[in-house]
Amino acid sequence: MIGTGILKGMAVTARNFVGSYFEKERLITVQYPEERIPLPENYRNFPILIYDNDPEAGLRCVACKICEKECPPQCIYITKSDDKKPDYMGKPQFYPKVFDIDISVCMSCQICVEVCPFEAIKMDKDFELSKRERFDALLLRKEELSKSNEYYHRIHPVEAAAVDTNLAEAAAAAQAKKKAAAAAAAAKPTPVTPNPTTTSAPGSTSVPGATPPESSSSPTKS
Ligand code: SF4
Ligand code: SF4
Repeated sequence: MIGTGILKGMAVTARNFVGSYFEKERLITVQYPEERIPLPENYRNFPILIYDNDPEAGLRCVACKICEKECPPQCIYITKSDDKKPDYMGKPQFYPKVFDIDISVCMSCQICVEVCPFEAIKMDKDFELSKRERFDALLLRKEELSKSNEYYHRIHPVEAAAVDTNLAEAAAAAQAKKKAAAAAAAAKPTPVTPNPTTTSAPGSTSVPGATPPESSSSPTKS
């Protein structure tokens, strides 16, 4: 019958129109801030620095400055420490004396995260960061940027679990290498130290009962 297709199409449109008002999962308006839509795992806003257990001693960042160099708008500022502290694997490493990010300039590209070899910088999901002052208030210091690994697990559970696995594997590999090096050193034969009472030095005549070597030729006089 002519017009059946049009009627079917109109029925679909009408069902969706009415459903968009009553089916909860299809409502696109929420009563923010009382009501919030859970953010997807890969949502990102600005970077944060991850620490394990202690915000100062446990900071994973070793101030290598790779992220500072690679950041396209150059909004990361790092000053390296003069001394070293043990990293998460117990290896002495430098740490950032100063680590600032100007989030008024940051474009949330995540390049800093991609280039960091220490899993030290990750992307936060916090978007409620509006401030009255445009400049200083948006310059985040190390203390504001530092977040625990537990916080990272809360905002990016899948990614954080994968990072933990990688770090645990790297720590185990480093331990195994250390043990193998120690075992190899222990298995190496100890060099015998010459005993001065039983061995004579070249040309020496101090061995008891030994005949002094005769000189094959007299010194030539000119
Ligand atoms: S997310 Fe991009 S712009 Fe922001 S600090 Fe990292 S590298 Fe720089
Ligand atoms: S966050 Fe990563 S790349 Fe940036 S300085 Fe620290 S360790 Fe290096």
